Amino acid sequence: MEEKNTNLKATKERAVKGKVEIDIQRCKGCELCTDACKEQALKLSETINIKGYRYIIANNDVCTGCINCALVCPDAVITVYRTHPKKKPVDITPENIKEQIQTLVTSSKQ
Ligand code: SF4
Ligand code: SF4
Repeated sequence: MEEKNTNLKATKERAVKGKVEIDIQRCKGCELCTDACKEQALKLSETINIKGYRYIIANNDVCTGCINCALVCPDAVITVYRTHPKKKPVDITPENIKEQIQTLVTSSKQ
């Protein structure tokens, strides 16, 4: 309960917040993103997607928009937005994130 109160307080004090969208049907539940999230905003679902995997669910109330989850996801299924109370959400996921991941994967195999 105390952790929940701390998270609520943190959300109110932050001028910039994050919002994560996940393409759950493409998620394979590898949990690389949950390990990368310092805010513990991500967790596995209890149910499975069409591929038979548990998928990731985001708690956007505690997301800071740090983008770590999107950077580590091998399938680029996460999109991160940064939100400001008085401004429109901005998509901060790099446009070429799939190419960046492909380059990393290719170079790590060599
Ligand atoms: S890293 Fe990507 S594929 Fe793996 S669990 Fe997270 S969202 Fe799903
Ligand atoms: S953007 Fe950062 S804080 Fe938000 S879910 Fe992803 S890793 Fe966690």
